[in-house]
Amino acid sequence: MDIQDFRLHAHSLVDWMADYMENVRDYPVKSQAAPGDVIARLPKHPPENGESFEAIFQDFSDIVMPGITHWQHPSFFAYFPANSSPPSVLGEMLMATLGAQCMSWQTSPAAAELEERVTGWLRDMIGLPRTFTGVIQDTATTATLCSLLTAREKVSAYRINEHGFAGEPVFAVYCSSETHSSIEKDVKIAGLGRENLRKIAVDESFAMRADKLAEAIEQDLSNGIVPLCVVATLGTTGSTAIDPLAEIAAVCARHNIWLHVDAAFAGTALLLPEFRWMSKGIEHADTIVFNAHKWMFTNFDCSLYFVKDPDALIRTFDILPEYLKTQEDSRVNNYRDWGIQLGRRFRALKLWFVIRSYGVSGLQQLLRHHIACARRLAKHIETAPDFELLAPVSTALVCFRYHPVGVDALDELNDLNENLLERLNLTGTIYLTHTKLSGVYTLRMVTAQTGVTQDDVEQAWVLVVGTAREPEASK
Ligand SMILES: *Cc1c(COP(=O)(O)O)cnc(C)c1O
Repeated sequence: MDIQDFRLHAHSLVDWMADYMENVRDYPVKSQAAPGDVIARLPKHPPENGESFEAIFQDFSDIVMPGITHWQHPSFFAYFPANSSPPSVLGEMLMATLGAQCMSWQTSPAAAELEERVTGWLRDMIGLPRTFTGVIQDTATTATLCSLLTAREKVSAYRINEHGFAGEPVFAVYCSSETHSSIEKDVKIAGLGRENLRKIAVDESFAMRADKLAEAIEQDLSNGIVPLCVVATLGTTGSTAIDPLAEIAAVCARHNIWLHVDAAFAGTALLLPEFRWMSKGIEHADTIVFNAHKWMFTNFDCSLYFVKDPDALIRTFDILPEYLKTQEDSRVNNYRDWGIQLGRRFRALKLWFVIRSYGVSGLQQLLRHHIACARRLAKHIETAPDFELLAPVSTALVCFRYHPVGVDALDELNDLNENLLERLNLTGTIYLTHTKLSGVYTLRMVTAQTGVTQDDVEQAWVLVVGTAREPEASK
């Protein structure tokens, strides 16, 4: 493809992109493809000779698009969103065009310095003290792994990096039973052993019980096990429960234990002063992660990772072969040493575009709108005689189930709601997912999509009610 062709196709693609953003409602939210549908239409062998862009794009339309679940659809209420926005996409286009690999300051000074500035903005925007320094990671899973590894090295005086685990004590990590699965994955990868992850009991709002945490730590200490790290969650994935950070931080302080805060989704709400109650005690954390790629209109991937002790982070990860040495090393941030991989994308660019394009107040306005949508939906559920809320609505996730009068057996209600979810998603009009809260099959509806309107939520609710109340025969 020569530059002239590129220009032509790029213009038509931008038109396609704008049309897509405008008309995304016309697609079924959840892809209706069956397993194997897409691969069956893809040739077993790559083309020997180059093909025209028209042919490639035709197959994108015919083969790829039907297999896409439309995450930017306003009626995407599933999981947590990975919401995006026009300025973010524009930033991503420029990133791809520059194709810069931003491992060191020298490999693109603007990338390093923009990252330093934008993460500083974000720190201030979510009300973190200036004692924290930010860096962008790909995902929360990676940021949490960085935190565990840094804790591991700090506690072992950097011995494990040098010698491995031989002669080291057993280390324990603590989280709640509602903690995201990435913590368990990270504990495995960090070599700490899944059996040393303590899943602490939660209270009736699904938040970690600090008293149970203290008990588990005491028990480990009396068994000669070294408490390494506590992971507190602000906004669990199941129900956006808020772990009591100040109480947890007090337990950590008593025993000098590393505290990591996973605020992957709900961290965005800290842009709102009225949500700062959630982060009371956060100044005692060692590390914090939240995903701009979930609820801050920055397309995947972009995770903000804040650390109190960047030297410990860098000491855990740095490596300096001759071919990476530069003259500026002592005066600049070489972000390759602030995380796992060497090569880095220029993620700060799209984040900068998003923050500047919306402004802090523009972002706050959208977040407040999403939270209002969730609260209104919760009101509907509370007042419907045959629906019930299953968890407090802390930010923009509503957990509920259908509970018709006279049906009270757990299994029967679980089956009823599982079946309801399947029928709702088959409509293609909305997309919800589920979780289990204390064994109860729970429908989750997240109202945090960039373009979601009050009307979208109202219509979804009407569909949920109508589908639930349909007579059995028409299922
Ligand atoms: C989504 C989520 C994660 C994982 O996020 P990734 O960026 O996909 O790794 C971790 N913790 C919580 C609480 C989450 O909601």
